[in-house]
Amino acid sequence: LQHDGEKLITTHCCYCGMQCGMHIRVNEKTGKVVGVEPRYDWPVTLGKLCPKGVTAYQTVDHPERITKPLIKKNGKFVESSWTEALDLIEKNFKELQAKHGKDALSVFGGVSMTNEKCYLVGKYARVALGTRYVDYNGRFCMSSAAGGFMKTLGIDRGSTLPWPELEHTDCFFMAGSNTAECHPTTIQWLWKARDKGAKMIVADPRETPTARIADVHLDLKAGTDSALANGLMHLIVKEGYVDEEYVNERCNNYEELKTSVEKFTPEYTSKITGVSVGKLVKAAHIFGRSPRSVVMFARGVEQQSKGVDNVCLYTSMALLRGQIGKFASGVATFTGQGNGQGGREHGQKADALPGYRKIDNPDHVNYVSGVWGIDPAEMPKAGVSAYEMFDEIQKGNIRAMHVICSNPAVSAPNNHYIWDGFKKLDFMVVSDFFLSETAEFADVVLPATTWAEDEGTTTNLEGRVIRIRKVKDPIGDSKTDWEIMKLIAERMGKGSYFNYDNVPQIFEEFRIASKGGKADYSGMTYERIENEDGLFWPCPSEDHPGTPTMFQETFGTPDGKANLAAVDWQEPNENPSDAYPHILTTGRVVFHYLSGTQTRRTDFLMEQCPEPYAEMHPHLASKYALQDGDTVFLETKRGSMSVKARITKAIREDHVFIPYHWGKELSVNKLTNPALDPTSRMPEFKVCAVKLKKA
Ligand code: SF4
Repeated sequence: LQHDGEKLITTHCCYCGMQCGMHIRVNEKTGKVVGVEPRYDWPVTLGKLCPKGVTAYQTVDHPERITKPLIKKNGKFVESSWTEALDLIEKNFKELQAKHGKDALSVFGGVSMTNEKCYLVGKYARVALGTRYVDYNGRFCMSSAAGGFMKTLGIDRGSTLPWPELEHTDCFFMAGSNTAECHPTTIQWLWKARDKGAKMIVADPRETPTARIADVHLDLKAGTDSALANGLMHLIVKEGYVDEEYVNERCNNYEELKTSVEKFTPEYTSKITGVSVGKLVKAAHIFGRSPRSVVMFARGVEQQSKGVDNVCLYTSMALLRGQIGKFASGVATFTGQGNGQGGREHGQKADALPGYRKIDNPDHVNYVSGVWGIDPAEMPKAGVSAYEMFDEIQKGNIRAMHVICSNPAVSAPNNHYIWDGFKKLDFMVVSDFFLSETAEFADVVLPATTWAEDEGTTTNLEGRVIRIRKVKDPIGDSKTDWEIMKLIAERMGKGSYFNYDNVPQIFEEFRIASKGGKADYSGMTYERIENEDGLFWPCPSEDHPGTPTMFQETFGTPDGKANLAAVDWQEPNENPSDAYPHILTTGRVVFHYLSGTQTRRTDFLMEQCPEPYAEMHPHLASKYALQDGDTVFLETKRGSMSVKARITKAIREDHVFIPYHWGKELSVNKLTNPALDPTSRMPEFKVCAVKLKKA
């Protein structure tokens, strides 16, 4: 709807991986952003927005925006000029490297940024700062999905099918995803399919709004996904639901899988997972008899110390039924962050280079070094994962950190360890547009821009690359993250490698950097992305149509076959004990995004959900004489917090659930377990042992 005196700029929501299509309303006289309109012709979300999307514009001209560089003096932030802030950064970075070596510096990136910026974070760390230590907040988000897809399918693209095909699916198997709250605009596709008779199976310890609409709710214990998937595959094999032709032609390890699932009888599976035998059998029959099914999962499955195993096993369920590479069928993970897909492909991971190349592969290093114009010998080796960077701080190896578009003070597990790490650093820089809990630890805070003040591309949860458009000029003295990285590169004597005047120049470079890699964007241009309303990678040439459906002919593995997972269930890192008798799990609510830096500053969203709470079953509450609304004190081996009890039958009796969007004293991540998955280095946010009492 065009309003008088306003212009509409077409873009996408800044929050989750749905990247819903929207128009931003700008007052033509004042240049201020005044609202949004949904984009009805955007094929993925068809005019739907959730409460976060509707209010996203309110962050752009928010009174708490940081508009000038801040330098901490005598414990207090003081506004400064860019010259003064950059002088200080240059002096400290150079002195620390002179004293402790190149790897004294580190970069902690994020994926709520455009592809262009995510690409530049890896190059900035390795070329401008010359350090091996770069990783990002996607390590806490998508890394287990990435690891699992790489192992089974050979390519990590979050969805093997385009979202509009969901309407034609016969069965949704959804594990560890509260889609109705976390990716609400997907639900319309599920309803359309349900109207045509599609079935829905939801695996979750809570009866979430998503589980409530399911045909079968598999109310499993957190941390038992591998047992559940093995148990369902046991039944799929036993009942003759395997697509033998597909499996024989297109998959490896079938015999190993059959042996491995043999012991997972419904009774054995029920004992581990807590799901009744009847529900297991019903779910297997529905899934096994559906001609077209999609297996979908999210952080509930992935944020575990065996998250990669879970992903491999759930993906194998889809493979056994011959569902990957076909219309309205497949496997998908829900990216939590806006650019959770694109942000993990362009080289800001400790072990990755653009195009999903590996930093320990000499051919890959040679190729990317050629694009960057550096000697391959100058390319730093692999670093360590996000949480492990804090181990390096404790050892004295990392002395300074530049945090870009991320808030690990709240989003990392075992918060106290993270806070202690920040305090131990000799020097810390944060680029952000609000004074986040992480920024409060910094020596210098650089004012960055919101998504509405810059342009570029993101890649949504389907793998579709889309255009983000600049709506207005940056507020105050703020600068875009790419300009900030360029300025620091110049101060470090590496400006010639960052000779960009605009975003399209960065895009052109990373197209080339991705060429020939698994995530190949080289056939994309801004013009094509705009004219075709998004393009799916891989897209290796300008006459290539892009790849909405993955793996139609072959998988991304060396022999072109998918690898079925023959993997046993292993217990979570921490189990309930006499001292900590219950299971704590965490998640999101519809009104908040990630660590809440933006949504906690949006009045409407805060009115709807102002604080965290501990959701628990009436039977558990009665053990501690807790009434709804009472304050409950919770403690794990790592920390404690007090929140209000919310008593509901919609959760297992042995679990407590707390949402994670609040900072410092109200951060549930003070309690969560940093035990890491051996492959993805994902922490076990979703399962730990907790004790509680009435406060
Ligand atoms: Fe869409 Fe996600 Fe934004 Fe909500 S937060 S409007 S679902 S992109």
